[in-house]
Amino acid sequence: MRKIALILLLIFLLPAVFFSAYEISTLSRDEEVIYQIYQDQLDGILYSANQYSNDVLDGWVAKIQTGLETTFGDSIPEKINTLLELNPAVSLIFIGDTLNVSESIQVFSYNDSLRSDEFRKKLASTLADESLRIKQLIRYKESSFQKKEALPSNLNELRGLVLMSFILETAYNGKYVCGLVIDPNLFIEELLGPKLQEIAQDKFILSAYNKNSEIPVYVTNDNDSASTVTIAQTKDLWSLPDYYLGITTMGSSIQDIVNDRFSTNLILILLLDVILILGVWLVFANVKKEVSLAQNKSDFVSNVSHEIRTPLALISMFAETLEMGRVKTEEKKHEYYSIINKEANRLTGIVNRILTFSRMEANKKALNIESVDLNETVRDVLSTYEFHLHNKGFTHSFDPRLESTIQADNQALVEVIVNLIDNAIKYSNSKKHIDITTGQKNEFGFVSVRDYGVGISKQDQKHIFDKFYRVSSGDLAKSRGTGLGLSLVKEIVEGHGGYIDLKSEPGKGSNFLLYFPLNKS
Ligand code: ADP
Repeated sequence: MRKIALILLLIFLLPAVFFSAYEISTLSRDEEVIYQIYQDQLDGILYSANQYSNDVLDGWVAKIQTGLETTFGDSIPEKINTLLELNPAVSLIFIGDTLNVSESIQVFSYNDSLRSDEFRKKLASTLADESLRIKQLIRYKESSFQKKEALPSNLNELRGLVLMSFILETAYNGKYVCGLVIDPNLFIEELLGPKLQEIAQDKFILSAYNKNSEIPVYVTNDNDSASTVTIAQTKDLWSLPDYYLGITTMGSSIQDIVNDRFSTNLILILLLDVILILGVWLVFANVKKEVSLAQNKSDFVSNVSHEIRTPLALISMFAETLEMGRVKTEEKKHEYYSIINKEANRLTGIVNRILTFSRMEANKKALNIESVDLNETVRDVLSTYEFHLHNKGFTHSFDPRLESTIQADNQALVEVIVNLIDNAIKYSNSKKHIDITTGQKNEFGFVSVRDYGVGISKQDQKHIFDKFYRVSSGDLAKSRGTGLGLSLVKEIVEGHGGYIDLKSEPGKGSNFLLYFPLNKS
């Protein structure tokens, strides 16, 4: 059995354990890869939103460029005019000659306070303060790189707005320092917003934040709860330095999905392991049962051979003595005949038991159920057995308490009672007494056979009704048997729709109670 257990362990459990351990260890790695891919994807989406806002700014820069190409005097050039008119996010446009910014700067705006001469001067001085950055922008322009840069400003009029500066060049008039003052909130709401909406569809929630505030400037989902959604990924908005974009998946977050997948997979793997362990355990239990049955069967063969050999040897010995005419007195002859007869009966008994068993096994023995007076049947058995019991030195008592009849096959009933009495005789030591009782419990009538013999341990009680099972330890092995008696009793009782109750304690004796259905009519 240990070998079988080892083989099962090696073939099924070990690979399963290794596989599970491997799967569990790679599981978190897989999830990490999935998570990374997802993050990259989100990053790409934010990148495209950034790219879009950059394109919008570039479009404006291009419009100012065309405006510059047309000569302008005191009046706002038409292109710049339309730009201001169509884009409320653009609060102001300025243009100045790079060679003399402070003097040449012109400001275009629909906002009166921004159009004032006073503000124009302030702006000019701010630009003069930032001359280093502007020079840098010029250098970029000379190497054909159109860079836009947000300049820091502490002008009151520009609070909350973004001052963006860049260099433009016209073929005839040289380089210009140009700039846009952008209202970031309007820019995000009116220009970037629709684009975010388009990207998000119903798969993502995109939002834009000011770095100094928790509350989003814009969220693609109208739902109020959107502002409380945990952001999966953020990215600075290139064009507006104080702002950033956030993205999260609609419904559960990526982390949630990944965690969910992880736990589902883990549970599945563990479930599989449990099923496998159960399966292996089942196989093992079955194999164990088969092996012990095979063992019992082989014991049975040797027991039966021994059982048969003893009476045969006696019969042949006494028959031979008689045949040779060595027995002189009639009395002795009579004694020998009766021994031969008794041993032949014993043989018949053994053979009958085996036959009944094999017939029961093949389900051939149909029970002939009728109304039976159990007290009567017990009395019959006892009167037949009286002599035998007495011969073996046994005393007995019978207490009939059952008042109704039961439904049973009388022949089978006799067989089970005889079996129990036989066992009581076989497994008793010095106290040779048997108590037999009948009675009623619920819907059943019972017959109880109690002895004061060797008793049966709790462990053996589980098995004695198994086919071929015999208790092998102690003195019991000395008394011969087939191990079929009780399995036959069990089969017959259950065939009647009844059940068996056993109370036994080693050294104190056993009490077998057989229950049969009462006769209803
Ligand atoms: P057998 O008596 O031929 O061995 P049974 O099926 O009748 O086979 O009994 C199975 C085993 O149960 C016996 O080997 C014996 O150990 C135990 N047994 C049965 N009846 C008794 C009893 N009255 N007292 C003690 N042990 C018993």
